[in-house]
Amino acid sequence: MSDAPFEPAPGCVTIDLDALADNWLRLARRAAPGRSGAVVKADAYGIGLDKAGPALWSAGARVFFVAQLAEGLAARRFLPKEAVIYVLNGLEKDADPADYARNALRPAIGSAEELQRWSELAARHGHTSPSALHLDTGMSRLGFESLAALKDAMARCGAAIGADLLMSHFVSAEIPGDPINAEQIALFDAARAAFPDLPASLANSSGMFLAAQPIYDLARPGYALYGGNPTPAARNPMRPVATLTVAIQQTRWIEAGETCGYNAQWTARRRSRLATLLAGYADGLPRGAGASDAKPGAEIVIAGRRCPLVGRASMDLCVADVTDLPEEAAGPGVRAEFFGAAVDLDDFASRSGTIGYQVLTGLGRRYRREYFSPRLATRQEA
Ligand SMILES: *Cc1c(COP(=O)(O)O)cnc(C)c1O
Repeated sequence: MSDAPFEPAPGCVTIDLDALADNWLRLARRAAPGRSGAVVKADAYGIGLDKAGPALWSAGARVFFVAQLAEGLAARRFLPKEAVIYVLNGLEKDADPADYARNALRPAIGSAEELQRWSELAARHGHTSPSALHLDTGMSRLGFESLAALKDAMARCGAAIGADLLMSHFVSAEIPGDPINAEQIALFDAARAAFPDLPASLANSSGMFLAAQPIYDLARPGYALYGGNPTPAARNPMRPVATLTVAIQQTRWIEAGETCGYNAQWTARRRSRLATLLAGYADGLPRGAGASDAKPGAEIVIAGRRCPLVGRASMDLCVADVTDLPEEAAGPGVRAEFFGAAVDLDDFASRSGTIGYQVLTGLGRRYRREYFSPRLATRQEA
């Protein structure tokens, strides 16, 4: 890292674009002989699409998935024009299908109504634009409700609709023993048999690690790219991408029996030294990240030691119990790592009562962001 001067900010998210590229390469190897795409919805899971998109492209990713039309338009700006971009939410009700086609965005079509709108566009233009067909195999969220419904809609729609991908989405892939995984694979295999010419895509990050290896032609990892653990019951095989550090503002001693934070949810059981850190729920920290008298809290790392957060996180502040640290190790200005190399993202999130996906996508706007790429020896601020 260079020592370029940056705007000071008490909270800093450092993003390792080499780790992101390595994670994609690892997943691409796992997907072989199929391919791995890259899911970059929600601003690349909060990492920043403008930086993550080009880094993934450089690593070799050619197929990208966003959730919304607006995200697809943004992805078009940051990716080379050869990039294939699917829009997972499909043809939005208020959107003009021509806006997808004009920008070479491929909607994941999930209903007879969407199919109709897309085929009308094709009839009007005299040619089809590519799209995906989305079958619901258990999420009950988006996609054709059954293979019969999909076949029926396809039979009714007159014009060719340019489908070049058949996809579905796992309900519970991060729980390998959940029987719904096998049920969904069976339903998806039946759909593949009905549309044998369509490339197929089923697996998200965790789906890629199921024993059945349901990769088919194209995998759709998101979370694992950004350092999330696709195998929560086992060691995280991915490299951490985002590191959040926050500075200590004050420390104080409180007596046993005194409490910390709003509504006095945490009571000191011994004379305790507390460190107040400059980030809170307005920065995306879960309000319940701190311990209460009823439950333990997330653990952050200060000077190489794990320390629990205590009490309710406030809007701009949270508090760690640093009693077990030497005084000089945890003074004002010292930075604590909330997650990154020292604290696994999934560990921080689960102890905070949420999932790493929500922690990443909720990363606050007040944090300073530093992107670096050790292999390229570049570092820049956003
Ligand atoms: C978000 C999403 C993915 C990526 O899931 P991860 O668990 O983040 O890998 C894949 N497919 C669909 C349809 C999605 O909505």
